[in-house]
Amino acid sequence: MDHKHLLRSLPKVDEVLRQPALAALELPQSVVTDLVREHIDCLRRRVLESELQVLPSMEALCEDICRAAKAAAKPSLRPVINATGITLHTNLGRACLSEKAVQAAAAAARRYSTLEYDLESGQRGSRYSHVEKLLCRITGAEAAMVVNNNAAAVLLILSALGKGGQVITSRGELVEIGGSFRIPEIMEQCGCSLREVGATNKTHLRDYEKAICEDTRALLKVHTSNFRIMGFTESVSLQELVALGQETGLPVIEDLGSGCFFDLETLGIHDEPTVMNSVKAGVDIISFSGDKLLGGPQAGIILCKEKWIKTLKSHPLTRAMRVDKMTLAALEATLDTYLDPEKARQEIPTIRMLAVDPALLKLRAENLYEKLTALGVTCQVIPEQDQVGGGSVPTQLLPTWAVAVDPQNVTVDRLEERLRRQSDIPIIGRIVKDRYLLDTRTLWEEDFDYIAGAVKEADQ
Ligand SMILES: *Cc1c(COP(=O)(O)O)cnc(C)c1O
Repeated sequence: MDHKHLLRSLPKVDEVLRQPALAALELPQSVVTDLVREHIDCLRRRVLESELQVLPSMEALCEDICRAAKAAAKPSLRPVINATGITLHTNLGRACLSEKAVQAAAAAARRYSTLEYDLESGQRGSRYSHVEKLLCRITGAEAAMVVNNNAAAVLLILSALGKGGQVITSRGELVEIGGSFRIPEIMEQCGCSLREVGATNKTHLRDYEKAICEDTRALLKVHTSNFRIMGFTESVSLQELVALGQETGLPVIEDLGSGCFFDLETLGIHDEPTVMNSVKAGVDIISFSGDKLLGGPQAGIILCKEKWIKTLKSHPLTRAMRVDKMTLAALEATLDTYLDPEKARQEIPTIRMLAVDPALLKLRAENLYEKLTALGVTCQVIPEQDQVGGGSVPTQLLPTWAVAVDPQNVTVDRLEERLRRQSDIPIIGRIVKDRYLLDTRTLWEEDFDYIAGAVKEADQ
């Protein structure tokens, strides 16, 4: 058949829209009309490119459109199952909130709240008051405030303290954390000039001392979150830098990045300093993320000496970086849990996942294995190693247990794709040595039946 005849036989949009299958779709008419038009256009293009010699039946066309419509009806931002074992998977949303934090965020979202209202006086209150006392109590800091994320916090601090002057930083700490957030460029954005000192691998106290001049506004220390310099290295300790700051009257600023409250050393995870350590050392202003090792909502937490809080709170950028009520509610609940470290370990998913005993992960893997083999899936329980993620703990892998699936009817790439693209709850796993791994560290046991069923179905 020639093109012309096929093109003439293409169904009209109205005709397709009248089909009962489409009329039954629970989607706005405009969305369905667009889908029908797209599908007919696609058919037309394929005819013109001689890809199609026969048009699909009306039933087949409607089936295709209904499938596309169902996919379009799903929200774009939706839950997934993280089978990668990476606790702070940045692309999958970093920290999962505790149940208490989820409830608090939902309650703040659903109804009116005391966001900026003081019940005692009946007057306007401050949105920062809800978490300031808690932050000070947990960390020992004199004052605290919260902005949208840590990138914003660093921007605010450098703008408020460094503008028009120089800020001194070690060459070993000029970090890029991704998403074009780099210390040198942030400085430029804040209107302060970066005075780099030392070398990539070694910076001495005398390097800072020599660089201090009339224009110096602050000394900045940046936690090298996502990399480590190993070998012939030396850096100036917080204590030394604070002593220099006190001697010269310059504030010491620290961008801690991950901002951990829980002493990970007790879990055998090295090299992640606690926030309390920096407060104790006497750092003037500290900032860190809410949704990295803290395990709370996305936020930038600032702890500082009393004398700096007014400058920060009244800075014009603060309003532009204002933290919202759901975040504050979730953060307050998370912080409240930290008042009891054992509770934090059990209830905050990030800490729980990092602290979990590998023996328990093995039991979990065996449980998932049982469910999979009961459905006829070929798999094996294997020991594995995990990254922490979120640009934290870059040089250490944590021991874990996973179920390695050997698909029998499709390739391992196809299995991965099917689990990722399925319409219900997508499962994100990783392929290692031609096997599909379900890593139990980041899984919830209540999802195991669903996961087993989905894997069985994807291997057909
Ligand atoms: C992650 C990180 C940031 C940015 O924090 P966000 O909360 O993601 O904005 C800034 N500095 C360092 C050192 C980091 O590790």
